Amino acid sequence: MMKQSAGTVYIVGAGPGDPELITVKAMRRIQSADVILYDRLATTELLDYASKKVELIYCGKAPNAHAIPQDQINQLLVKYASQGKNVVRLKGGDPFVFGRGGEETLELAKHGIPYEVIPGITSAIGAAAAANIPLTHREHASSFACVTGTRCHGDKAPVRWDLLAHSVDTLAIYMGVSQLGSIREELLKHGKAASTPVALIERGTTSKQRTFTGTLEHIHHLAASVQLSNPALIIIGEVVKVREQLLMAEQQAEQQAEQMIG
Ligand code: SAH
Repeated sequence: MMKQSAGTVYIVGAGPGDPELITVKAMRRIQSADVILYDRLATTELLDYASKKVELIYCGKAPNAHAIPQDQINQLLVKYASQGKNVVRLKGGDPFVFGRGGEETLELAKHGIPYEVIPGITSAIGAAAAANIPLTHREHASSFACVTGTRCHGDKAPVRWDLLAHSVDTLAIYMGVSQLGSIREELLKHGKAASTPVALIERGTTSKQRTFTGTLEHIHHLAASVQLSNPALIIIGEVVKVREQLLMAEQQAEQQAEQMIG
C-alpha cells in the first residue's frame, strides 16, 4: 500500500557554496518539492527557488551541536514520503561525500520508499577550482584523495595517514581545521616532507572565501594566525604551487601591460 502512494525522497547535493554551482536536476527537484530538509552548509539562497507552499525544515548541523539528530532526520524523510509528499533532502557539496547520504538511503530502502540521489560538486572540487589549484597535474600529481580530518584512532575506520603520506599525491582534507596540528604531526611522522605546500581555503566558492598558502611545517601556525574557521578545506601537495605560479604569471603580465602603456 505505502509503496504505491509514497512520494519520492531526493537526496540532493547543493554544491560547495556558490548557489550557481548547483546542477540543473537538483534545481528542478527544489522547485517541485513539497518539503525541503536542509543543512547548515546548504546554500540557503537556493531555497528561494522553492514553491511558495513548500515546507522548510532546518536540520542544521553545527560541529558538536546537531540541531536534529540523524535518526530523527531519517524518520522525517520516511514520514513525509509516506504521506505522498515529494521530499528534498538538501545537503552541502555532494550527499555521498561525508554527507551521511548512505545512511539516509539505507533507511529509505528499508521502508520501501523510492529515492534518488542527485550528486553535487563536493567542496574539495569547488574550493580547489576557486583557489586555482588543480587537484591533479601532469607534472605534480597523478592522484588525489578526499580525507576526513576528524577521525581519531580507535574509530571504526581510522584514517591511514601512514599510507596517505606516501601513496596519494594530493590530499584534500575535510573537517580538519580543529585537528590541523595532529594531521600535520601524523603526516610528518610518516615521512611527508616538511616543505610540502599546503593551502587553506575557508568558505570556498563563496563571496567570503579566504585562501592561504604555506608549508606543512608551519601550517598550524598559519591557521592560528589567520584564525581559520569552518567550513574550510585543507589541500596538501605540490599542486598548491600552481596557484602561486598563476598569480606570478598574472602579475608579470600586468607589469608588462603597464610598461607598454608607460
Ligand atoms: N558533503 C560535503 C562535505 C560535508 S563535511 C561535500 O561534499 O562538500 C563538512 C566539511 O566540508 C567542512 O568541515 C569543510 O571541510 C568542507 N566544506 C564544506 N563547504 C566548504 C566550503 N565552502 N569551503 C571549504 N570547505 C568546505
